[in-house]
Amino acid sequence: MTSPPLLTLIIPVYNEKEVIPVFLRETASIVDSMKNIDVEFLFINDGSTDGSLATLLDLKQTYENIRIIDLSRNFGKEAALSAGLHHARGEIAIPIDVDLQDPPELIPVMVDKWREGYDVVHARRIDRSSDSIAKRLTAKWFYRVHNATSDISIPQNVGDYRLLSRPVIDAINSLSETQRFMKGIYSWVGFKSTVVDYTRQKRAAGKSKFNGWKLWNYALEGITSFGTVPLRIWTYIGSIVALIAFMLSIKVLVQVLIFGIDVPGYASLLIAVCLIGGLQLIGIGVLGEYVGRTYIESKNRPVFIIRNIIE
Ligand code: UDP
Ligand code: MG
Repeated sequence: MTSPPLLTLIIPVYNEKEVIPVFLRETASIVDSMKNIDVEFLFINDGSTDGSLATLLDLKQTYENIRIIDLSRNFGKEAALSAGLHHARGEIAIPIDVDLQDPPELIPVMVDKWREGYDVVHARRIDRSSDSIAKRLTAKWFYRVHNATSDISIPQNVGDYRLLSRPVIDAINSLSETQRFMKGIYSWVGFKSTVVDYTRQKRAAGKSKFNGWKLWNYALEGITSFGTVPLRIWTYIGSIVALIAFMLSIKVLVQVLIFGIDVPGYASLLIAVCLIGGLQLIGIGVLGEYVGRTYIESKNRPVFIIRNIIE
């Protein structure tokens, strides 16, 4: 008889002391009732400073199927997930938040879909009423802009919570980029995928680690990671502005030749100078964004550094 497949739950943890025990209790009771599957809990301690690691080590005494990767500092959720994917032993893996916003009840549903032959099972939030209006609105716009400007399209309202089969995990691990926009990467690698819906829960305890500024930067990263439309757009804006300038100069020239020199024109001159100056600065900013990304990527630094692996 062959042994049952192994499922790795990849759980990034950053200052989550209060929720870890709750998460483990709820999730373990669900996966224990699943038939014909083994489960390992792979916690990635992303440089917590609140004693989360001690809590994890403590829980490891009672639950034997826990492994802990302790990163050398806080590298961010994307890097923590990358570390998890590199060290997952399972035939399938599911990245899941520790705050119970990703309901563990969905795990058996996703595994069933995998058994039906899907390589990726996205968990899609159908109800985000637990998120603030601002967060929902900005998320909606982010997906719009991203999918309109990028070479790949990412499914709306799908977070990191999803099932990945071994071929997908290996494909993701083979990518060498150091700036990892995981939502984009999952889509970029392809494979046969399907979607299951769920309602987003409120955080079980603790606080969200993402503020507005962090999310804005995350969105910029997403948009510039998978396409060059923001760069190319300046060719078109430049062409339009040049065309307008050309027509304007003919008009002014004809006016001067027919009616003679007309001194007024201060306003139009100032507007033109400021407008073009502003447009140029925006264009340089966008260019800088890409140059900066190239610069960081060219250093080829590792995505994360592990201090210790506790098996
Ligand atoms: N997280 C992490 N590193 C970070 C920030 C967050 O590993 O720098 C983890 C966090 O512990 C949680 C998950 O990522 O398990 C989602 O974080 P959070 O709930 O704060 O995000 P939100 O649900 O508000 O988007
Ligand atoms: Mg959360």
